[in-house]
Amino acid sequence: MAEHYDFVIIGNSAAGLQALRTLRRHDQQVSIALIDREDCPAYSRVLTPYYIGGHILREGLDIVDHSFYDEWGVTAIFGHSVISIDPEKHSLQLADGREINFKKLLIATGAEARTLPAATQRACVLRHMADAERLIDLFQNLKSVTAVGAGLVSLPLLSHASEQAEKHLVVGSNRIFSRVVDVETSAILEDQLKEKGLNIHKQNDVQEMVEAEQLQLNLANGKQLSSDLLIVGKGVAPNTHLATAAGLEVADGILIDAHCRSNHPDVYAAGDAAEGLDFITSENTIQGNWMTAVEQGENAALNMLGIECPYQGSLKNNITEIFGVEVAAIGYCQDDVAEIITSWNSATGRFRRVFLDEKQRVVGVNMIGETNDAGLYYQLITSRSVFPGKQMLTGTANYAQTLFRLE
Ligand SMILES: Cc1cc2nc3c(=O)[nH]c(=O)nc-3n(C[C@H](O)[C@H](O)[C@H](O)COP(=O)(O)OP(=O)(O)OC[C@H]3O[C@@H](n4cnc5c(N)ncnc54)[C@H](O)[C@@H]3O)c2cc1C
Repeated sequence: MAEHYDFVIIGNSAAGLQALRTLRRHDQQVSIALIDREDCPAYSRVLTPYYIGGHILREGLDIVDHSFYDEWGVTAIFGHSVISIDPEKHSLQLADGREINFKKLLIATGAEARTLPAATQRACVLRHMADAERLIDLFQNLKSVTAVGAGLVSLPLLSHASEQAEKHLVVGSNRIFSRVVDVETSAILEDQLKEKGLNIHKQNDVQEMVEAEQLQLNLANGKQLSSDLLIVGKGVAPNTHLATAAGLEVADGILIDAHCRSNHPDVYAAGDAAEGLDFITSENTIQGNWMTAVEQGENAALNMLGIECPYQGSLKNNITEIFGVEVAAIGYCQDDVAEIITSWNSATGRFRRVFLDEKQRVVGVNMIGETNDAGLYYQLITSRSVFPGKQMLTGTANYAQTLFRLE
């Protein structure tokens, strides 16, 4: 017997959870099912490196508790995978054979970490809770750890490994966080990380892994590293296979319009699985960040309810702390913009680099050393504001208060 719901969401994480909350806030009557193959309440993937490093407990990752789903009147189908979707029949199938019918569907299936072709027990990715649990064991008694790829998985994990461990970062490009910072910002950050004991091997790669007492890693430049563990942080692959098999339009991600809708009128997509407009470039992109997933989840839900609501487009938005250094990169931060304004205090380590377009509007910012005004820059970018002036770079609270009339 098939089950019937008004709305079905696949994916109980940033995008799916925000969609659920939005649907329920606007309509207490509709029936909603939320499906996820992971069998636990929604948790923060962003915080898993802190959990692995022993800085927070497992409960600290939970975004909601077990009772949330009952309280919000949603049928939670956890521990079950969706194996196919039939948009025309408005139905999907679970791995256990159950058929679920929907009026409207949101695909918020996220992404999977890319692995290396050669497998070894000591090469690990981090995406799901099972990866985190495995890494907790491997983090015990580490003498040396290497990460390949310099993004939001490798760097936080290296920074949470034991202080005594020798730490190496192997990165293919000429900088770290290459998607979101330019070369000069990276150079300043690299210097700070080197001071904290990180060894950085740029324009390099792990070409071969040899199992021995420690893992022998042969790098492209001929150097050899010995490590107890290799963290693989080489980006993610969006979970699009269900959409592709269902005949939906897919490029790198599931293509969505300005209403987070796929090319089928009753099927929407959001988050790391979806490819939609970038706020600055107007090109289709997958941002791969939590904020975009939340925004798209909310926007999809409003449109699923028939509340016409165009989405203005997504922004790169990464704010993190690595090796005790706060870092933020928001918006478009490449050196082909019309103007770049930089403020750098080597004594305090406080760095600001603002990227402006030809109309002097703020399109991006890189910050190192202090990120508490990141929200102000986010607002400047999304309101397409002209840069207020260099005094903002020195960042006094009074100035921010005047500018944004904050209390
Ligand atoms: C270690 C780490 C650190 C990060 N740090 C940051 C950070 O500092 N800042 C930031 O903005 N972002 C960060 N990110 C990225 C951020 O976590 C993602 O952008 C965000 O989780 C995307 O949310 P989502 O809802 O689109 O998908 P996901 O969080 O990937 O969730 C998708 C869900 O769908 C489920 N699913 C998939 N396929 C199926 C299926 N067939 N059937 C049933 N269920 C299915 C999965 O089990 C999963 O629970 C980090 C990610 C990781 C892993």
